[in-house]
Parts: sequence; C-alpha cells; structure tokens
Amino acid sequence: MKIKLDRTICDGFGLCAVHAPETFSVDEWGYVSLAGAGNVAPEHERGVRRALLDCPVHAITELQPVEDAPRELTR
Ligand code: SF4
Repeated sequence: MKIKLDRTICDGFGLCAVHAPETFSVDEWGYVSLAGAGNVAPEHERGVRRALLDCPVHAITELQPVEDAPRELTR
C-alpha cells in the first residue's frame, strides 16, 4: 500500500499518528510527516487505513498501483 499526505489541508489534530505511529509523526508545531515516502508495510496497513478513514479533512489518500491505472487504447 502506498499513500500520499496533503500537508496543505492537514489540520494537525494528530489522529493519524495515534492510529499509525509507525507511519505518521507529529512534530512540536503540529506538522505531520510521513515515513518511508508513503510506502506502508503490510503489517501497518490496518492502522493506516483507520487513519485514512478518520482524518477529518481527508488529507490522506491511498495511491493505486500503476498497473491499475487506465491504459491508453491502441488501434
Ligand atoms: S488525521 Fe488528517 S488532519 Fe489530522 S494530523 Fe493526520 S493528516 Fe492531519
């Protein structure tokens, strides 16, 4: 699983860091950082999915694998 964090809309409540502390960290000013460039280890996916659902401003997005992206039609 790979995720993206939009820090421009994050309100810094820190819910994500409560659910998935291995993936999200909140600094002393309330800014959230994402560990591992958004790559989530399988054992941490459950907490990250909970954070994704509970984020009050929907700042966390799951990125789809490239192979799931629509392909260009060929003639
Ligand atoms: S739960 Fe959402 S709004 Fe709250 S700190 Fe995490 S990303 Fe930001």
